[in-house]
Amino acid sequence: MSLSQADQSTNRPRYSEWIRSSNNITQQFMAIGGQSDVVSLAGGLPASELYPVEAIKQASIRALDRWGSTALEYGPVEGFPALRAAIAERMSREHRHRFGIENILLTTGAMQGLDLIGKVLIDPGDLIVAQFPTYLGALDAWRTRRPSYRKLDWNLDDPDLLGSLPRAKFVYTVPNYSNPTGALVPQNARGGLLSRVIVANTWLVEDDPYLPLQLTGAAGPSILAADAATRPEGQYDGPVIYLGTLSKSVVPGLRVGWVVAEPKVIQLLALAKQCSDLSSSMFSQAVALEFLDSGIESEIIPRIVACYRERRDALCASAEALLNEWFEWDVPPGGMFLWMRAKSPALDTNHLYSFALQEKVAFVPSSVFDPDGALTNAMRLNFTRNVPDRLEEGVRRLRRAVERYLSS
Ligand code: PMP
Repeated sequence: MSLSQADQSTNRPRYSEWIRSSNNITQQFMAIGGQSDVVSLAGGLPASELYPVEAIKQASIRALDRWGSTALEYGPVEGFPALRAAIAERMSREHRHRFGIENILLTTGAMQGLDLIGKVLIDPGDLIVAQFPTYLGALDAWRTRRPSYRKLDWNLDDPDLLGSLPRAKFVYTVPNYSNPTGALVPQNARGGLLSRVIVANTWLVEDDPYLPLQLTGAAGPSILAADAATRPEGQYDGPVIYLGTLSKSVVPGLRVGWVVAEPKVIQLLALAKQCSDLSSSMFSQAVALEFLDSGIESEIIPRIVACYRERRDALCASAEALLNEWFEWDVPPGGMFLWMRAKSPALDTNHLYSFALQEKVAFVPSSVFDPDGALTNAMRLNFTRNVPDRLEEGVRRLRRAVERYLSS
């Protein structure tokens, strides 16, 4: 899967150096998801049958009626002002602090937020302390900047970690239902991390796409909320750079995400965005605004949550019946993923992967969530995209793949 042998067959100028350490795994998983004979437990896609197609159609009509040619224009780099204000309002409500519009940058998905953070903060060789295992998209987004990584395993008193933090450009965490593990970081660990970040005087990137997907219990306050509570209302000026998105609670196809941060950081991210896409789609932003104004999101989230809870439970039950000889896992309290750890360190999921593809089932091997690629005995299974029967069929195929791999 590595593109390191992206050999050039001509003697034209060489491709940029970062491509050597890159891979096209995400594209491969997207492609596998489109093959109907394969049960894909690989991607991180929502259940598309729950997309509010009619409500988005109505929002599109209202967007054009209300905003006319403005909705078809280039927009301000920082985002469509009316949506920016609506997101400032939403963030103020969700994180119990009054955020100003200067604290908000609208982005083309949270993924662009990650990319812009890389452009603003990372120079080659800079250190990132990243929650481990780490979201593949973040590793991808920052690869071009060529950072180094220190893995955060939540042992917050580790002297090596405490020594690393003052040198780190930022800490990266997905505290709510992490991708890939589905784990919820407890409140005391969040508080512990925040206080160490403040002492070290660095930044903390809190990536929070799964906040709406609380399947069992509540997520509790964000790190942003905990920090903001200690600061005056109005313009937030703390070290947290928070990423949100409509991809999980509405649809990923609008590509509407946002960053909350202190105003100077927002200005610099906007500078980077200007060089990236000039502005996010004004049409998408106007549709998102009209959709959010309709209040339908609060009706669809409970439906999404009920559906994902049933699918999570179905996947866990099948895994319990068919895979527990070789794997262990924690039932994820939210999000989209089950993280299966092999009981034997010798079970290598990179190798298992090719047997799985022969059995027409796909998962994501753990190595891609490790900046060093060394984590080879776990895998990520998605439970949101397939109905329970199909999840069960996927697990049956996975069992056959494990049996064939072990006897090979
Ligand atoms: N961060 C994490 C942790 C994610 O899992 C995802 C999507 N899978 C993103 C960011 C990107 O989301 P978006 O669709 O808003 O670009």
